[in-house]
Parts: sequence; C-alpha cells; structure tokens
Amino acid sequence: MPRLCDICNDARAIVRRPKTAQSICKECFFHVFETEVHNTIVDSNLFKPGDRVGIGASGGKDSTVLAYVMKTLNDRYSYGLDLYLLSVDEGISGYRDDSLETVKRNKEQYGLPLLIVSYEQLYGWSMDSIVAAVGRKNNCTFCGVFRRQALDRGALMLDLDHIVTGHNADDVAETILMNIFRGDISRLGRCTEIATTGEGYIVRSKPFKYAYEKEIVMYAYLRRLDYFSTECTYSPNAYRGYAREFLKKLERVRPSAILDIIHSGEAMHVAKDVQLPSLDRCQRCGYISSNSICKACVLLEGLERGIPKLGISRTKQDVEAGPRESDLVHFEKLRQDALEMRKTRQNSAACPQSACACRSESGTENCS
Ligand code: SF4
Repeated sequence: MPRLCDICNDARAIVRRPKTAQSICKECFFHVFETEVHNTIVDSNLFKPGDRVGIGASGGKDSTVLAYVMKTLNDRYSYGLDLYLLSVDEGISGYRDDSLETVKRNKEQYGLPLLIVSYEQLYGWSMDSIVAAVGRKNNCTFCGVFRRQALDRGALMLDLDHIVTGHNADDVAETILMNIFRGDISRLGRCTEIATTGEGYIVRSKPFKYAYEKEIVMYAYLRRLDYFSTECTYSPNAYRGYAREFLKKLERVRPSAILDIIHSGEAMHVAKDVQLPSLDRCQRCGYISSNSICKACVLLEGLERGIPKLGISRTKQDVEAGPRESDLVHFEKLRQDALEMRKTRQNSAACPQSACACRSESGTENCS
C-alpha cells in the first residue's frame, strides 16, 4: 500500500522533505514551500505596498522558482508589489546567451517586464574577453564584483526600491563557512542578514534564505517550470567549491546542518571595539566602496592597462597610476535620474484622500 502524506493523510506521499524528513504529497509540498517563503517575507517585513521589486533573473532554477513564487505570493496575499525581471548578461557564450532565452520565455509566461543589462554595455568588457585576457584562474572574482554593480545599475535604471535574489539556504551556509575560513568578520556579519541596503536606498534581499536547494529543485521539477540547468562554461569559484563539498558532507550526516550553520552565523556578533571598514563613495564611478577607488574600477583599470592582476594582488601605487580610458556611467548620474523618476512616480500616485483613484502628473493636491 502506498505511503500517505504525513500532512493531509489523504494523497500519496511522493516527496521526502530534506528539511523535516516528512513524506508528503505534491500539493502539500507546494503549500508548505510557498507558505514558508511567505512567512520569511512577512516575519522580516521585506516589502511595503507599492514597492517596485526587481527579481534578479538568470534563467537558473533558483531565480526561476523565485520569480514564480514571488508572482504567486504577490497575487495570493495582495502584497501590492510591482514586479520586474532584472537580468545581467555577463557575455559568456554557450551559457548566458542560452539561459537568457529562458528568462525571455519566463517574461512571457509570468507576464513580467524584463530589463537585461550587459557587462559589455556597462564596462566595455564581456566575460569572454576578460577570460581571454586574464585566463581562468580569477575570472569569478571579476564576474562577482561586476555582477553586484550591474544589478544596482539596472535597479536604478528601473527606479526599483528593492532587488530580490535567489540565494538559498545552502548558498548562505556556504558563504558563512567561507567567511569563517577566511576570517572575514565584516562580510560574516553582512552575509547572514536577510536584507541589506545597497546603492543608496535600494534594498537587496533573499526570500529563499531558509529554503533548501534540494527543495527548490523539487519545486521547479514538480511545477514543471521552464529553467536552464547547464553549468557556467568557466570553472566555478574554487574556494566556494570547497565550502560546498564540506557542507554536503555535513548535510549527509545531519540534514539540519544547513539551518544550524545559518542560525549560528546569525548569533555571531562582532565585539563593539572591533573597527570595521566604513563605506564611502568611489572617487571614480560614485559606487559605494570601502576604499577610495572601488573594486570594479580597480579591476577595469587592470584590464585596460594590460595588468589584470591589479585588484587581485594590487598595490596603492598601481591604483593611483592613472585613470581608465573609458569611465563607467557615473553612479551619481544614474542616482539623479532614478530620483527624478521617483519624484514623477510619487506625484502621479493615486490620491490618498480620495476614492477617485485620480492619477495626476502635477500631484495630488488638486484632486477634489
Ligand atoms: Fe561568473 Fe564564475 Fe559564476 Fe561563471 S562561474 S557566472 S564566471 S561567477
């Protein structure tokens, strides 16, 4: 006789949850997965009605499930969010070009607007050309630094309040381990937060912070979502690979290890007398940075001067040696444009005093 679902005790169990070891049916799995993400969002007060939220979409399983679940929960619980898909094209042939085709289909499937920003357009370099210049050893350093800025630049172009990313519990636990191994206490504090403020007012958060990777894969499979599953052409970040391997071993012995590590990370606090780097603005591009020149500008300068190790193993002298030939669009310019868009948006908002849903370019003060 087939085993019945531990929750509804009615339908046949087809999933064993790695998180709780419960055997449950498909419908109960969808329900608990979505409800847990909803609880994470509500408990952490992630959004407010009217927020413009960009979903960092790569076409992979995590971001595809995130787009589907965000749209489902926004409709089901009336969050009142304006959702957008925001993708970064790193310029990796045979990988990102194919995965972006998936995002374009998701745009139609979920009825969400999509903006794609590319490294080529933002920095003048694609990952293919970076790998040709630096080889495969440090390519992920370039890619990670550029992606973070690219998302913030895309968010300013769309006048977003918030970016959500598909980082799951396994990713968070790996990052905690990596920061402990490296002794990076400043990043250790930030990586456990569910939401951080990035460029100015734009909040960045991880609604899947407590969702296991295995459950996200199951969800995508059982919902038959359209996602792209090929690995990046360039070798994955070796250091993260060690942390991932170690975490998988721990999980085999103790399935709750992933959540245990996250909760331990959350419980760690830096002593008050420890001095952490303070954040300022990059003197070249205006992006937030703990140094006078941000990491992206240092890396770009190295590429343009034919010394790609600059920024990987840099010296102060190298950085001050000269400006880059092509400057990034200054963040201040993007920020000012976004503030203008925001002002127009606020002025044309529905009148709060009236039931007439008046939307006026000149503001709500004339509404009767
Ligand atoms: Fe970029 Fe490295 Fe990830 Fe490929 S594996 S997308 S190069 S960070």
